[in-house]
Amino acid sequence: TAETFKQIKARDQKIESFLTLNEEAAVAAAAQVDQAGITDAEKLAGIPVGIKDNIITKGLKTTAASKILENFEPIYNATVMNKLNAARMINVGKLNLDEFAMGGSNENSAFKITKNAWDQTKVPGGSSGGPAAAVASGQLLAALGTDTGGSIRQPAAFNGIVGVKPTYGRVSRYGVIAFGSSLDQVGPMTRSVKDNALLLSAIAGHDKHDFTSSEREVPDFTAKLDGDIKGMRIGLPTEYLEQGVDPEVKEAILNAAKTFEKLGATVEEVSLPHSKYGVPVYYIIASSEASSNLQRYDGIRYGFRAEDVKNLEDVYVRSRSEGFGDEVKRRIMLGTFSLSAGTYDAYFKKAAQVRTLICRDFADVFANYDLILSPTTTSTAFDIGAEINDPVKMYMNDILTIPVNLAGLPGMSLPAGFSNGMPIGMQLIAPQFGEETMYRAGYAFEQ
Ligand code: GLN
Repeated sequence: TAETFKQIKARDQKIESFLTLNEEAAVAAAAQVDQAGITDAEKLAGIPVGIKDNIITKGLKTTAASKILENFEPIYNATVMNKLNAARMINVGKLNLDEFAMGGSNENSAFKITKNAWDQTKVPGGSSGGPAAAVASGQLLAALGTDTGGSIRQPAAFNGIVGVKPTYGRVSRYGVIAFGSSLDQVGPMTRSVKDNALLLSAIAGHDKHDFTSSEREVPDFTAKLDGDIKGMRIGLPTEYLEQGVDPEVKEAILNAAKTFEKLGATVEEVSLPHSKYGVPVYYIIASSEASSNLQRYDGIRYGFRAEDVKNLEDVYVRSRSEGFGDEVKRRIMLGTFSLSAGTYDAYFKKAAQVRTLICRDFADVFANYDLILSPTTTSTAFDIGAEINDPVKMYMNDILTIPVNLAGLPGMSLPAGFSNGMPIGMQLIAPQFGEETMYRAGYAFEQ
């Protein structure tokens, strides 16, 4: 823990990944672990971990990178934090994100823009850009992120680390600041596949506080990491190599496919024809859910309240107008529009129907295949400032990660080479609750 804070102080001036450090409490917790000792079964005790700042931490400022929660100190812990505490991991601090996890570049944070670990003129990706850049720049071994439409996998790809979005329901969302409740999941971001599997084993499982969390048994996700993937059937969706994918990225994925074949797997082209509607479907559904979830920020219950207000309505209107950033407001407007009486059938309902078609495509492929392989993103990390004024372009970046959230599947991004010195990410997608297969293949590839 002492070494971690040394690294943070040496490196984070350049990267700007942390919003809040938890130094005093972390040092005390580490001393306690030292004193009590560690048993062989405790694989994570005493290991420092960073937390995306939309996961609430008791007594430690949690902002979601929004002005509206600038001074918010939660009075309880998210379930995942209780689980990390039970494993005696050390929470070293809170990491930057796009405001309320809405974005793909960290440029929507109300406080600072985190930089890519490999090139500080480039974005770290988002929304979990803080966690990804902190891990990739050698400040941390592990962090927790959240993924609603790619927010763990895309920044993992842009920074050359391993990021996993678990199956919807695998990890409790209790105490995770809600964005799109039918899509949100917490997941680990690490340097290696094995570390990732260890951390997911610690945070997964049923929680009576989250009725969407699954009662399925949580396996030890490290148990099957033996490098043997002979006979595994991998599908390579044609559409995921077409939609604006850079030639260097495509080549890296085709090379990865060859590596899997050498390891004894079969790789065949498959089709996910409705995935091309993923972006519009997601931005209707996620924004609709966000517009409902964000109603609670009224200037009364949490954080920021506008000054010199005249009456109750003024408290609501001015606190929200001054407290939310542009992207969050854009989503609230898009969401309330999609849900309103005159437009519901044309937008929200239609999006929900197309979501079902996207799910069915995956089910069809998984009838014959164990895993799906694709790029995580169409390109490597882009320049800071390059896309922030073009929301539609920014939204299109999520084209390869979003379908996985819409279908509730587990997805992993892991390093698959470089283009012009920037990391390329490849994505492995498994059927629901198929994380073990995904980890097994990722581990074999990494070796
Ligand atoms: N970039 C996507 C968005 O802005 C993904 C966000 C996320 O997964 N939290 O909605």
